[in-house]
Amino acid sequence: MMSSLRPRVVSAVTRGVVEPVLRAPYLSTARWLPEFFAWSEHERRAWQRDRLRAVLGHAQAAVPFYRDVLAGRSVDEVDLAELPVVDKAMMRQRMDDFLSSGWRGIPHIAKKTGGSTGEPFQYPLDKRAWTHIYAANLYFWEGTGYRYGDRLVLLGNPPSLQSESEGVKSRLRAHLEGRVVSATGWIIDRETSLERALTAGRARGALWYGYASTVAAMADAVLEAGVRVPPPMAIVTTAEPLFPTWRERIEQAFDAPLHDQYGCNDGGIMSQGCSHGRLHIAENVSIVEILDDAGRRCRPGEEGDVVVTNLHARTLPFLRYRVGDRAVLGAGTCPCGTGGTFLERVAGRQGDALHLPNGRRVSMLSLVRCFRDARHVRRYQFVQPEAGLVQVRLEVEPGFDADERSKLLGKVRRLVDGAVEVALMTDEPMERTRGGKHRVVVRTFDAA
Ligand SMILES: [Zn+2]
Repeated sequence: MMSSLRPRVVSAVTRGVVEPVLRAPYLSTARWLPEFFAWSEHERRAWQRDRLRAVLGHAQAAVPFYRDVLAGRSVDEVDLAELPVVDKAMMRQRMDDFLSSGWRGIPHIAKKTGGSTGEPFQYPLDKRAWTHIYAANLYFWEGTGYRYGDRLVLLGNPPSLQSESEGVKSRLRAHLEGRVVSATGWIIDRETSLERALTAGRARGALWYGYASTVAAMADAVLEAGVRVPPPMAIVTTAEPLFPTWRERIEQAFDAPLHDQYGCNDGGIMSQGCSHGRLHIAENVSIVEILDDAGRRCRPGEEGDVVVTNLHARTLPFLRYRVGDRAVLGAGTCPCGTGGTFLERVAGRQGDALHLPNGRRVSMLSLVRCFRDARHVRRYQFVQPEAGLVQVRLEVEPGFDADERSKLLGKVRRLVDGAVEVALMTDEPMERTRGGKHRVVVRTFDAA
């Protein structure tokens, strides 16, 4: 099929056949999103308020936890900030209180989080909620020039990128979407990464999609081998922080615009980075708040917990759900011109900090800054096995010399106490999460 024709055919088949079968109009919703995002701020807020009223009304009528919280209230008068903040641990502990009565009768799919920290979390996600988050994903992808039905190359195919449930139906969708998986798994040694890059190039995909660390390792392998790989129209990274040094090398190795995505299904948040590196939030999916330690809303520029209210979830409502990430809300309008809410940056997981013996915490962001001028460091990780010891594990390339080493050591030492021993090591393997994600901070002791 001619490449220009394929997207049109696939779109027609998807909307005419697949969507009715799946009962999830994801592509139709994606096609509506440009209109939604063109609405005025006022109109989008009104739409969100209507959705919020609908999910609150359902929660009040059918979910034990919210039946109590909202007892005797009119949902029209409830301000979001009045609701308690909940999290995964709390919901898992008393699932029966959070599940809607008759939830099996509400169209839903079974979801599971990767379990990067602790036990995996299994939960039902409304088809309507899935439809909106996947539609936002497609809308963002199409913003890069890719058209639905163009060839999509999944890089490494880590667990969180695999289609879940639906079996045959989701395989059908994957086939229609022209998905190609380039070297499965999350091994990122030199050989696998080069093979992955060459396969991706041969597939002539319009869009490459994968973990940031996977793509960064591909870039390293390609630069080292000195080969040229036919670039896609765009590269989208997801699921891990995209470090400035990774971005630089990816852009150097592959001549394609690079966009970073941040999102998660539990709670429901989806965003994609613009040319200015800010993450624009899909306001059709959820309302996003950034809260400080006291539970107050942070001002733009202040780092806090990401708390999400899903505008479609009824089987298991996610109302003011703390997703476990830290982020900073952007101020005013982004210079790229896109309206709506955006995140200045995502600062990593809640636990991504060193805990010093004097009680002080060193955030991941300040640790990452140490590497701004480290030209020969490919990846890095801070491992803290006890309060008084920090190992800085490095993967370096030729050219990493004593000077770069001592500068780096000096920067890290200035960040932590004199009481903390800092050990720089280049031969220790990096720790990964069960889902294969790279971690910047690994703390293996319990801080008081
Ligand atoms: Zn922007």
